[in-house]
Amino acid sequence: MASLTVENYVKTIALIAARREPGSAVSTGEIAQALSVSPGTVTGMLKTLSEANLATYMPYEGARLTEAGRRLALKVIRRHRLLELFLARTLEMSWDEVHEEAEHMEHAASERLVDRIDTFLGHPAVDPHGDPIPRADGFLAEIEGVPLARLETGATFRVVRVMDQDPAFLRYLSECGLDLHATGEIVENRPEAGALVCRLGARTVALGLTAAGKVLVEAREAEQAAR
Ligand SMILES: [Zn+2]
Repeated sequence: MASLTVENYVKTIALIAARREPGSAVSTGEIAQALSVSPGTVTGMLKTLSEANLATYMPYEGARLTEAGRRLALKVIRRHRLLELFLARTLEMSWDEVHEEAEHMEHAASERLVDRIDTFLGHPAVDPHGDPIPRADGFLAEIEGVPLARLETGATFRVVRVMDQDPAFLRYLSECGLDLHATGEIVENRPEAGALVCRLGARTVALGLTAAGKVLVEAREAEQAAR
């Protein structure tokens, strides 16, 4: 079994690479920042990963996972996201609490336990943040969604994914009523002011475009929703 550190590195590289064009390298600096360690520590660890055939590393360019590294990363991500959903469903923990707990548990849970949790939860597609859960065979679905910030006035939407795990940010979204699957309508989108106003049920909420850029939604046309 891979060490906790190895698992965290391959997971981090996979999560950063997922936001890029396929095949892009992930730089030492980005990994260092994501794991809060020094770039020198990362360079040392990348050598270990390439010796274990989990990643390739090119100085000044960065790291790429090998097929074995990607498979390991998907297993860790699968454990993490299933544990998050398990904690949310069974212990009713909120979406801002589960990430931190799953960070620890993901290294301790066996494949057998995780598969049991998967069955218990009915093979869910997404975790409490809308992040897709890799299947046991390594398949990872794409989540369709556009940033809320890009919708125009009058558009209606449903929240499908949140791209930031920061607990304070998630609590803020809940306060606004922007929970996963919440539906609403754009009252006004004013890029020139960096702000967006939307209606969620009876309430009207103003959001900065930076925050609204981290909330992915499924958009519907205004007339369609009215029908
Ligand atoms: Zn999550």
